[in-house]
Amino acid sequence: MNIHEYQTKDLLKRYGVPVPPGQVVHTDVQATSVAEEIGGARWVVKAQIHSGGRGKAGGVRVGNSVSEVGVIADEMIGSRLVTQQTGAEGRLVHRVLVEQASTIVREFYLGLVIDRATRRITLIASSEGGVEIEEVAQHTPERIIKEVIDPAVGLLDFQCRKVANKIGLKGALLPQAVKIMKGVYRCMRDHDAVMAEINPLVITDSGQLLALDAKMTFDDNALYRRPEISELRDFDEEDPKEVEATAHGLNYIALDGDVGCIVNGAGLAMATMDAIALHGGRPANFLDVGGGATPKKVANAFHIVLQDPAVKTILINIFAGINRCDWIATGIIQAMRDQNIKMPIIVRLAGTNVEEGRAILNTSKFPFIIAGNLDDAAAKAVAEANKIAGKVVPLRKEQA
Ligand code: ADP
Ligand code: MG
Repeated sequence: MNIHEYQTKDLLKRYGVPVPPGQVVHTDVQATSVAEEIGGARWVVKAQIHSGGRGKAGGVRVGNSVSEVGVIADEMIGSRLVTQQTGAEGRLVHRVLVEQASTIVREFYLGLVIDRATRRITLIASSEGGVEIEEVAQHTPERIIKEVIDPAVGLLDFQCRKVANKIGLKGALLPQAVKIMKGVYRCMRDHDAVMAEINPLVITDSGQLLALDAKMTFDDNALYRRPEISELRDFDEEDPKEVEATAHGLNYIALDGDVGCIVNGAGLAMATMDAIALHGGRPANFLDVGGGATPKKVANAFHIVLQDPAVKTILINIFAGINRCDWIATGIIQAMRDQNIKMPIIVRLAGTNVEEGRAILNTSKFPFIIAGNLDDAAAKAVAEANKIAGKVVPLRKEQA
């Protein structure tokens, strides 16, 4: 789960990481009064969306008077911001962060990520801050400094000093850098974050280190024990289909193909997507209904999959162990009836109560396309989707 910049800054502040004075606002009137409260002569107004690259996209703008801050906030709030990371449709800006503008002398990158190879949190720093770290990694990998952290002892002072030295921080800046690095590390560890990033970390004209941008990502599987983090979740930033799926206990991930998938078990769901791809098709989603899926849960799964306008056909692939094919079939019939589904539905059922399940489908008035196995199901689903799309696809050799 991701959170907004202002939320990350609030968290980091509690760990002694210096951030500019500022506040999130929802209206232009609030923006002007916050600017007045902060004081000074220059402020930045920053769109709060879950995306980087806002600066280049016009989502970080400087106001030189209190009234200009209001004008900028008014323009930003309610607009759609398109960045390199949002896709062409962009993101609707619901709120902006108004903060003191700093005079930047130098920009650095500071990050903490879980390195899967060493299975440890790794501190990453670079003298090339402000820009995308991926670009630095690609063009000048020698400018990226890494330090692996031993979880038994945590991040130690000497490691911080070593990294700070390598990116060119000296003198009075060294103890500041140590404090910031250790603060971010403790904040990450205390909240089960999987990533924390300050980009840029800057030296200001008064010789202070300051975190101007901050991002944190949290482990979804640990959210149950971090209610203070769960609370920060912003559903506006998430795919509404995925939000609904979570509420119904379904695992759904939207993809960009046209064959909707309803499957039990993550492994079988992956195999189903592979089989669709093997037959030249593209899955519209990953969906795992889990074990012991009730008819209601199956009907909910249809509801979510069908919200994607690209879906041309749905493939249901169930290998029932804990599940019951009769419940699945009952759910399918409920969905067909209540959601008035007209598109071709391909069903492959196997396992517990399969005879009862097939009987329910066969005696219904709906023209299901029944498949005998996974490969057959995928082939039929892709053929139906292509028929609707008007595509002619030659059969694979073994099918011909
Ligand atoms: P993004 O990474 O989404 O582009 P940032 O918060 O990093 O957004 O802002 C982009 C750039 O804007 C920064 O690299 C920095 O140069 C400038 N900037 C951001 N916040 C401030 C601030 N408070 N004062 C001065 N400049 C800022
Ligand atoms: Mg940034």
